[in-house]
Amino acid sequence: MSDLRFRSVEEASSRKAVKVELPKERVDKYYAEKVFNRQKMFEYLPAKTYEALVKAIDNKEPLSREVADSVADGMKRWAVEQGARHYTHWFQPMTGGTAEKHDAFIEHDGKGGVIETFSGKLLVQQEPDASSFPNGGIRNTFEARGYSAWDISSPAFIVGNTLCIPTIFISYTGEALDYKTPLLRALNAVDKAATRVARFFDPKVNHVLCYLGWEQEYFLVDEALYAARPDLVLTGRTLMGHESAKNQQLEDHYFGAIPSRVEAFMLDLEIECHKLGIPAKTRHNEVAPNQFELAPIFEEANLANDHNLLLMSVMNEVARRHNFRVLLHEKPFAGINGSGKHNNWSLGTDTGKLLFAPGKTPKDNLEFIVFVSNVMAAVFKHNALLKASIMTATNAHRLGANEAPPAIISMFLGSQLNEILDSIEKNETDTILLQGKEGMRLDVNQIPELIIDNTDRNRTSPFAFTGNRFEYRAVGSSANCASALISLNAAVAAELDEFADRVEKRVEKGENLDKVLLDEARRNIIKSRAIQFDGNGYSDEWKEEAKRRGLDTESSAPLMFDSYLSPSSVEMFKKVGLFTEKELEARNEVKWELYTKKIQIEARVLGDLAVNHIIPAAVSYQRLLVDNVYKVKELFDADTAQRIAGEDLKSIEKMADHMSKIKKLVDKMISNRKVANKIESERQKAIAYHDTVAPLLEEIRYHIDHLELLVDNEIWPLPKYRELLFIR
Ligand code: ADP
Ligand code: MG
Repeated sequence: MSDLRFRSVEEASSRKAVKVELPKERVDKYYAEKVFNRQKMFEYLPAKTYEALVKAIDNKEPLSREVADSVADGMKRWAVEQGARHYTHWFQPMTGGTAEKHDAFIEHDGKGGVIETFSGKLLVQQEPDASSFPNGGIRNTFEARGYSAWDISSPAFIVGNTLCIPTIFISYTGEALDYKTPLLRALNAVDKAATRVARFFDPKVNHVLCYLGWEQEYFLVDEALYAARPDLVLTGRTLMGHESAKNQQLEDHYFGAIPSRVEAFMLDLEIECHKLGIPAKTRHNEVAPNQFELAPIFEEANLANDHNLLLMSVMNEVARRHNFRVLLHEKPFAGINGSGKHNNWSLGTDTGKLLFAPGKTPKDNLEFIVFVSNVMAAVFKHNALLKASIMTATNAHRLGANEAPPAIISMFLGSQLNEILDSIEKNETDTILLQGKEGMRLDVNQIPELIIDNTDRNRTSPFAFTGNRFEYRAVGSSANCASALISLNAAVAAELDEFADRVEKRVEKGENLDKVLLDEARRNIIKSRAIQFDGNGYSDEWKEEAKRRGLDTESSAPLMFDSYLSPSSVEMFKKVGLFTEKELEARNEVKWELYTKKIQIEARVLGDLAVNHIIPAAVSYQRLLVDNVYKVKELFDADTAQRIAGEDLKSIEKMADHMSKIKKLVDKMISNRKVANKIESERQKAIAYHDTVAPLLEEIRYHIDHLELLVDNEIWPLPKYRELLFIR
């Protein structure tokens, strides 16, 4: 067993960087070469079809069958030229990640052969045999099957030999079975509501777009070491492992040079991204050893999210070429930083204005304050829901578990904005804002202090204002960002709608528009100031303080999911046309079920490793020690023997103690699982797994990690943290 460990360590440390061929042309030549974007549409579609398609995309209209047939034909021609032989409807199931079913472009030709063809019907709509995808009972209640339909706002692309068509996945009765459908609904809702409000300032605005710039954090581990860690292979994280003597104390990784093997991987990945039209821009080391980040230029949110999902799968492929495995788990290693996926989120008008950016004139600044105050109100009102939207069994390790900050959603605004809100609250700004010296006081961008705020900003905040956008940092590294964006955009849409209603009513009664806007913004600020917290979000005092402020402090993931079904969430989702109560219930069933399954798998894997790998290794070392003690006693008198072998005796006892505790805890975990498995309700089952199974994982690990310190290094069967975490 230990052979495997040493062979894998040897293999890992002997590796050299894989050479990456740089494309001969400049990046603009191969950028998006694998994407059926407008340029290729123009080239491969008849003029009429091209026009009809572009119009449908821009106006969010459905395609006629005739146009679809023509698009399919051109798309196939392009794809086949690129070497594609198959196509797939690429969709985003509630289990996370993406799913696809590949079909070849072939049909019988009636003469015993085949022809390559692709019809509009197959492009636009499919019926994947999706009975294996969780649906929370929706399909059972309504209709046996769901179907997938092309999202024309996201262009098709080629991976390997397959043409991938981004699709939504819904039941026959229209309920969303995926993440893309509700994301599109949420973006629509926020577009409508924000446009109403933006038109108070500029009647030329017709649409408001939502932007997302994600920052993907990840770990890399050598493939051979990964293969020797069944816990990594099966659960994505290490279920045991004593801290390395050196980990991130020196923070030298963050600033350090990127190891050459990793640099080759990053280069390869970037080239792939660019070919797929993913605008990858930034790469760097993160704080923890072996932890890295990749960030693109921000894009419209639906496309950005597709790109993130695509990136996560491309990363896996590219990593293998470099003998690495990518760990996207939120906490692959205990004792060192976990991985998140900061979501830089903003709204902007179709006239090119970012709505969370302070402007040059008093009017611009009033608009900025109006939008920021509505975000504050939405995040305050729905803080429990927003937390539920980022929570999973894996992200729980980053928020709310031990060695993680408390699971509380608060908002960091920075001292500059804070001061402005103060003065608005205290009613000091009407004059300054509306008639004052060109709004200097509110012209936040030009005040040097804001720049200080921006660079030295509070890294502990889960939701931070960062100059012209909000950075939603609570999102987990393995998550589909849509989950967070659905609730956030829906909540903000609902808030903006109510705001617009109130303003319109008062203006109809003859009040001055600007005064009403400022007054309503002030009300938002006053009622939602409790969401603002610029202090240390990792401190214990914050938890108490947050409770006093009425923020949600629930730390159990299964109970957090209840917020989706709270009266205020149900009402809000209904109001913005996002989810019916039935959909929310069904989606929650899936969340609870997934939670249970994750913990269940971890429990099984840990039980197996503890009993079949760790205890046998400890026993063989214990046997050596016992043997030694016997021999010492034969050779020496009692006193001398005690002096020589006394420590060994102590170790034998300590090891016995840990082993018996491990055995007892594993038995307890098995019986708790049996009890939990009998529970019918998915919610109750998930709660049982959270309360009675998950804590045992930690307890068992504690004893295994102590055994790791006692057992001879030569006998220990699994690669250790110091081996996993430092790529040479
Ligand atoms: P950080 O200091 O957090 O690394 P960066 O300046 O590198 O910040 O930006 C992080 C991400 O934010 C990038 O993906 C960038 O494209 C994105 N971003 C910048 N401005 C906006 C915006 N207005 N809306 C959405 N995302 C944005
Ligand atoms: Mg960031």
